[in-house]
Amino acid sequence: MLDPFGRQVSYLRVSVTDRCDLRCVYCMAEEMTFLPKKDLLSLEELEQVCSAFIDSGVDKIRITGGEPLVRKNVMQLFQALGRRIGNGLREVTLTTNGTQLARYASELVDCGVRRINVSLDTLDAEKFRRISRWGDLDKVLGGLGAAKAAGLKVKINTVALRGVNDMEIDDLVRWCGENGFDLTFIETMPMGAIDAIREDTFLPLSEVRADLSRRWTLTDSDHATGGPATYVDVAETGQRIGFITPLSHNFCESCNRVRLTCTGQLYMCLGQEDNADLRRVMRDHPGDANALNDAIAEAIGRKPKGHDFIIDRRNEPAVPRHMSVTGG
Ligand code: SAM
Ligand code: SF4
Repeated sequence: MLDPFGRQVSYLRVSVTDRCDLRCVYCMAEEMTFLPKKDLLSLEELEQVCSAFIDSGVDKIRITGGEPLVRKNVMQLFQALGRRIGNGLREVTLTTNGTQLARYASELVDCGVRRINVSLDTLDAEKFRRISRWGDLDKVLGGLGAAKAAGLKVKINTVALRGVNDMEIDDLVRWCGENGFDLTFIETMPMGAIDAIREDTFLPLSEVRADLSRRWTLTDSDHATGGPATYVDVAETGQRIGFITPLSHNFCESCNRVRLTCTGQLYMCLGQEDNADLRRVMRDHPGDANALNDAIAEAIGRKPKGHDFIIDRRNEPAVPRHMSVTGG
């Protein structure tokens, strides 16, 4: 699948639910109204649409949300995708908050998952509770232990927040090194209304990187995922650190991904409103693979060149959708 700018679209991110067992302050309001269940794609529809993308050339699928592991019977989807590994699909991955990993880690491995991203912004239990509004750090650490024991390769995703976890960055680097986890820092993105003002905690990763380089030996890494991160190797820990700076445009040129929301809208760019309603296609033409394939091809033909994110106190969020609907 080639888009109008000659980029090969090979990576699909799928949000399987907008629901979550946490309420991270930068992601959701405390009193979130979740979508009615009938609006969500069923597990069968998710399988059907993933399958159509694989047939069209997508070889990597990331399952995300909301919290994907709180979706009922979600393992059914992982099993179905697992059957396509080596048969069109190269990799199935997962982004999770880790709270359910103790229960699911080995089952994920059985389904062919080899790498997961786990979001963790702090190693301080009290602070974790504050950021996630009610989360239990021990549960996540237990889940990470289970993931390691099951043989999953783990990357930690940390949203850098000024005045919240900026003083803990070294601890996170050290802890990831000790545990053999890669680490990626993320800048806050202006997506969806929350109760707080995002720019108060906005911390540019250029600052984080400059600060880290005073104490750690960082060398630019040639590691590239086709994603929005740039990487450095850390000599002291032997691990890699990534920096995701979505507000800069530097990664749009190599963007290889599209995103499917939990309600079946395909977004060709995280930072643009244009989308294609694949749920409608599937519900209007049940079982019609051609209609779905045509709708996907038509949508890829509209993939825009880049995003329009602006973080600005006076404005509404640049993108009204919450990250949990589109899938981070
Ligand atoms: N619940 C799972 C988790 O937390 O990993 C998966 C979904 S979550 C929306 C995916 C990632 O998006 C997490 O790493 C989270 O920290 C990040 N995220 C959520 N809202 C964000 C925002 N407004 N700006 C930047 N990152 C955000
Ligand atoms: Fe839930 Fe993930 Fe959003 Fe936190 S970042 S509220 S864990 S979806």
